[in-house]
Amino acid sequence: MLSSFTLAALDLVFPALCPVCQTILGAGRRDPLCGSCWSAITRLGAPWCDVCGAAPAVSMSFGEPRRIGPVRPCPTCETDPPHYHYARSAAVYEGQLREALHALKFSGRRALAGPLAELVAEQCLASLPGGIEALIPVPLAREREWQRGFNQATLLARRIGRRLEVPTRPRWLTRTRATRPQSDLSASERRANVRGAFRASHRVAGRHVLVVDDILTTGATLDACARALRDAGVVRVGVLTVARVVHAAV
Ligand SMILES: [Zn+2]
Ligand SMILES: [Zn+2]
Repeated sequence: MLSSFTLAALDLVFPALCPVCQTILGAGRRDPLCGSCWSAITRLGAPWCDVCGAAPAVSMSFGEPRRIGPVRPCPTCETDPPHYHYARSAAVYEGQLREALHALKFSGRRALAGPLAELVAEQCLASLPGGIEALIPVPLAREREWQRGFNQATLLARRIGRRLEVPTRPRWLTRTRATRPQSDLSASERRANVRGAFRASHRVAGRHVLVVDDILTTGATLDACARALRDAGVVRVGVLTVARVVHAAV
């Protein structure tokens, strides 16, 4: 750790610029994010659906927006529950957070995994159930990871794992085939695209694991991961993401 004096001296010589807004980091900075981008992120918190983790912005439509603590499964989870047992996301996928995730993935700004993992730690760790034995990043297609040079989910999982004091096991879940980019597809196409695309190691059998990814959009990818893990004998599986697409935010 550098002292604040050393950081200030370094800033005079090499001013650090925020990868999202390109301004000098300034007060409240979460290197390499500047203080204003960090504080502009829309956090998610309780009450959330026990199962899918849909948080206040979404749960407003359930008519009980002010309940504190876990809520019963939301209507979607009551009729069509996912294969994971619980889910948490730190913040809404929009604005500065979307830019930060893009810079991490597509501009190779790996240092952003630091503040993004801190965001997850601050918003989600206190409400996670106990007994998690391993963090498992959602695997990328092999050629995509090769092109990018890293898997952002693994970078995030390792940092979160250090905070939780739980090991990260990227090899416990692999892709069995390439899939089309989910962003071009409808919800039902997304489910079909990733169905059967993952396989879990027998080492997960009998364990409680937490699958980590950067974004939860429809949950189709995470659901396919959870299904593969349960097929391999996992007894409990949660999912944890930095961001979540919140459709009913207004
Ligand atoms: Zn900024
Ligand atoms: Zn739900």
